[in-house]
Amino acid sequence: MLVDIGVNLTSSRFEKDLDAVLQRAASAGVEQMVVTGTSITESARATELCAKYPAQLLSTAGIHPHNAKEFTPDSVNKLSSLLEQKQVVAVGECGLDFNRNFSPAEDQLVCFEAQLKLAVDKQMPVFLHQRDAHKDFVEIMSRYIDKLPAAVAHCFTGNEVELLTYLEMGLYIGVTGWICDERRGGELQQIVNKIPLDRLMIETDAPYLLPRNLKPKPKPKSNRNEPLYLPHICQTVAHCYGLSFAEIETNTYKNSRNFFALDKMQL
Ligand SMILES: [Zn+2]
Repeated sequence: MLVDIGVNLTSSRFEKDLDAVLQRAASAGVEQMVVTGTSITESARATELCAKYPAQLLSTAGIHPHNAKEFTPDSVNKLSSLLEQKQVVAVGECGLDFNRNFSPAEDQLVCFEAQLKLAVDKQMPVFLHQRDAHKDFVEIMSRYIDKLPAAVAHCFTGNEVELLTYLEMGLYIGVTGWICDERRGGELQQIVNKIPLDRLMIETDAPYLLPRNLKPKPKPKSNRNEPLYLPHICQTVAHCYGLSFAEIETNTYKNSRNFFALDKMQL
């Protein structure tokens, strides 16, 4: 059994066939999926999906750094009430993205820190995004990490120095199909085994990041990624560690259940 810790199922690309997508995931052994909330609206939509598919779906509630410019003081109240819902298991996706700066850096810093404070108040784990903002990200996280129950750097695509810094801070690491790309994921393939097995989780980040080494070919025409392909990512990660599929499966499953406190949930 696997848990996909990051799926963007509120994307319009899943509008037409979500039932089938979830059925395929289940038959591939993906037991549960955590739907990523990226704004107040999308986080609310994610909770609606969870209510519709309570056995399979959980969600996060948060504001992605791209949407940080929408943040107002009232956003904290709205997120706070979303976080009260039982299937909402983490704060996020939140963090910093200075790669494209869809929101000004100053807005991102304010929005990120407000969500970390909320996570501390609620004692909930945090689902983190960081791109081209390592220094500021580490500075902010180092002030909060000790007060948080847990935090995961989702879709890790950084270098070894960044990885070791995160691990030293106590972060969990989320690995996506980025690792299945021998070109841009080459460095990750080399360093992934530095992640202790008790800190590793896996995710598809669907519909993005369709694994590049998917076989059999041809790959889906739409180029849409689905949770169905999580076992493929698990297999690639296992290969990079030199371990069996079952070892990565067992460890990431256990970590995900613990991280999101799924055993304590009353569904
Ligand atoms: Zn992200």
